[in-house]
Amino acid sequence: MLITLKEAAAKLRAANKILITSHVHSDGDAVGSTLAVMQMLRAMGKTAQVFIDDNIIKNLHVLPHFEEIRRPIDGEKFFDADLLLILDTSPERIGKVRDLTDAPILNIDHHVTNSGEGVELYVEPEVAATCEIIFKLAKELDAEITPDIATCLYTGLADDTGFFQFSNTRAETLKIAGELVNCGVKPNFISEAMEKKSANEIFGIRTALNSLKFFYGGKVAGMFLDLPTMKKLDSTEGFIDLIRVIDGVDVAFMISEREEKTCRVSMRSKGVDVSKIANSLGGGGHIRAAGCTIYEHLADAEKILVEAIGAALNN
Ligand code: 5GP
Ligand code: MN
Repeated sequence: MLITLKEAAAKLRAANKILITSHVHSDGDAVGSTLAVMQMLRAMGKTAQVFIDDNIIKNLHVLPHFEEIRRPIDGEKFFDADLLLILDTSPERIGKVRDLTDAPILNIDHHVTNSGEGVELYVEPEVAATCEIIFKLAKELDAEITPDIATCLYTGLADDTGFFQFSNTRAETLKIAGELVNCGVKPNFISEAMEKKSANEIFGIRTALNSLKFFYGGKVAGMFLDLPTMKKLDSTEGFIDLIRVIDGVDVAFMISEREEKTCRVSMRSKGVDVSKIANSLGGGGHIRAAGCTIYEHLADAEKILVEAIGAALNN
């Protein structure tokens, strides 16, 4: 069920113990939005705790209060909460956090593919990042945006807009970023933390680029990382951006084999709606950035994906 931002704020005001979570494969928007809300709710005198069911990439460990994020432990059954706040995703992608509580769900998101089935959802598909919504929510709750909260929110905006380069960057996004800088954000601190790569990742980029293939007369470019390569790699963050920029490429994708018959797909586009392609394969995302998991071997996953992209190009 869709609700308004005012109604979402009222639900947060009424709650006392809030479990906050976001999606696995967490990015700056997922971690930034959850940590920002946690701090806002605590300042309002509430008990608030972030749980995320994944290892979070090292670049985000610099965020204020990062060390307080908990990961559900196997067998852990219950966390005393009266509200489960799910940010930047629909409830299917929160892993084992789903088993921690039976509390009612409040969902706040900016993914066009989130339908809000079975939960109370505030969604704004036009905003660049969930952190943009959290900024507005802070105003709605009369919460002070401290330098720590601002740093978390700015990281979400920066990450989801590719540092204010993607087409989801609107005047409002830049205005909010400016206000966050006024609240104490140091933009260079965040960009330096986010762009940092280990030598291992640079070697990974070399392997990824060696696998580069083109399809449909150069309109589509893809990279492939098999399981042995993935086992040696800490992160593939940003790899896809290297081929997204190729002249003439509309859709760029990367397939990485995470387990036997489990391939993660990332897609980026300049025109085609890749959220529809991802959706047709059981995933989701945004018009120009989306992803899914294909439960096949790498070669079969490639075939399925390239066919789905081809069909979208012809539409
Ligand atoms: P990335 O390629 O950076 O992993 O993801 C791009 C966008 O697509 C992000 O907004 C992410 O949340 C979304 N996305 C990626 N994978 C999935 C998926 O399996 N399911 C859904 N619903 N969204 C996804
Ligand atoms: Mn996001």
